[in-house]
Amino acid sequence: SKRILVVGGVAGGASVAARARRIDEAAEVIMFDRGPHVSFSNCSLPFHLSGIVQNSDDLVMMSPEKFKKQYNIEARVNSEVTKIKREEKKIVVKNLITGEEYEEPYDKLVLSPGASAILPKSIEEITRPNVFTVRNVVDIKKLHDYIVVYNIEDVAVVGGGFIGVEAAENLRLAGKNVSLIEAFDQIMAPFDYDMAQILQKEMIDKGVNLIIGDGLKKINEDSLELQSGKKVAAKVVVMAIGVSPETRLAREAGLEIGVTGGIKVDHNYLTNDKDIYAVGDAIEVYNRLTHKPSRLALAGPAQRQARAAADNMYNIPHNNKGVIGSSVVHVFDLGAASTGLNEKTAKAAGISYDFVYIIPGDKVGLMPDSCPMHFKLIYEYPTGRILGAQAIGKGNVDKRIDVIATMITMGGTLEDLKELELCYAPLFSTAKDVVNHAALVGLNLLYGRFKQVPVTKVRELVENDEFIVDVREKDEYAEGHLKNAINIPLSEIRQRLDEIPKDEPVYLHCRSSQRSYNAVMALQNLGYNNIINISGSYLGICCYE
Ligand code: FAD
Repeated sequence: SKRILVVGGVAGGASVAARARRIDEAAEVIMFDRGPHVSFSNCSLPFHLSGIVQNSDDLVMMSPEKFKKQYNIEARVNSEVTKIKREEKKIVVKNLITGEEYEEPYDKLVLSPGASAILPKSIEEITRPNVFTVRNVVDIKKLHDYIVVYNIEDVAVVGGGFIGVEAAENLRLAGKNVSLIEAFDQIMAPFDYDMAQILQKEMIDKGVNLIIGDGLKKINEDSLELQSGKKVAAKVVVMAIGVSPETRLAREAGLEIGVTGGIKVDHNYLTNDKDIYAVGDAIEVYNRLTHKPSRLALAGPAQRQARAAADNMYNIPHNNKGVIGSSVVHVFDLGAASTGLNEKTAKAAGISYDFVYIIPGDKVGLMPDSCPMHFKLIYEYPTGRILGAQAIGKGNVDKRIDVIATMITMGGTLEDLKELELCYAPLFSTAKDVVNHAALVGLNLLYGRFKQVPVTKVRELVENDEFIVDVREKDEYAEGHLKNAINIPLSEIRQRLDEIPKDEPVYLHCRSSQRSYNAVMALQNLGYNNIINISGSYLGICCYE
């Protein structure tokens, strides 16, 4: 029978062990983790800070005893694998409690050591005791208890990725004064700049002191110093500027490392050693849209890779199509989901693309909790192949993005998405769902039926004194409008054509682009040929300004 050893006992490690057991009752399976736990919910860690998960012990889903009883898998905690002796097919393990070192032979070895939080040495005083990271149950308990014991009010989170955003939200929900510091020009890299503005506005509205475009320079006892010289009050600092794949073991064993810094694996998650697999945050994956190697630190892919690796040990075939990257995050009252490519990544990959930005209702407007959903769809130009999407709103953004992820995986186009038959009742969606609607707009653009400019160009349009028509009703206009936009409601436009010039570009917007799109089509059909819709419209403008 096979002897399978697994380094790391969480998302990837526990999955590979359990899958191997389901395939082979006779295999000897041993999992090693240097921490005191295996199989905990990394993704639920931030929720201990707000008390949504009150007891940190609840974050641990399986004890070593339970692993033994239910799966006949041995889980050795506080056990660090310090070396791989490939020629002898052995690993060296250090018991972190006793200090004892010993060797274990393997037939198959699986590496799922994950990724560690980046703590740049260039930041002064980064090793202070008030600096924390969030990776495991011990980390979150330490952070949580420090805040409680020292009655901390001012906390800074450095890094606006999903871990930073979740940490900031949960700390804010716990009533803390939270600053979020992001060195780039936006938070949440999976989103384009225009969409990220909505999330940033939500954070600011909920009382987070959001600082964008400024890096951390120095940490003091009760404050931070930023690159700009600005000071931020903070007695606790949570570092969440990104993660780095744990490749030391692999590197020292002479396993190949890819160009992105992750462990290089083949189609079956085998390293360049035919008896050593690697999965999860530590590896380099293949992006099926850009056709380039990349890294993706998410739980779903880690579990899929783990299953595939175990299957491969038993010659069970699987079809590795690469990754597209789908994720969702909670930002106070909003959900924010994305999949595939955004404008930035499509551009960087040299892919010809265009996009749709719409803000339809997520449910029938009469329903009590109907809300606008910001939805951006990226497609390949001119093929119409769907490349990615981003959705932000109070409603079910994950459903919409999961539909798009499915479309991308199946190689779908705008035509396919237009025809996609989805379930509908007023409390759930609209008869023409957000995603169908995006496909219709996309096809209209693709076939040249109308022109648009993105909401990010509005400032420029205003500064250049372009001719902008706001087609909302008068009362909506009165409540707030763009500085030099004139108001001609859609309901009056056919009677007021003499106010609209024919010899210069005319930009239209309404609240969500729907009425302005109707106005664009009406004017075009009346012989105007330089009418341009502002995609994103007033709802987008409000977030952007
Ligand atoms: P891990 O789950 O990190 O497990 C690696 C384990 O290996 C660790 O316990 C480590 O101690 C151990 N280890 C490393 N080296 C050794 C060694 N030499 N010897 C012994 N043990 C070793 N993903 C999502 O998809 N959605 C989310 O909402 C989400 N939220 C997250 C929130 C937080 C706070 C964090 C930290 C991550 C989140 N993730 C989320 C990412 C997800 O948790 C990871 O992608 C996933 O856990 C990766 O699995 P892994 O097995 O590669 O690594």
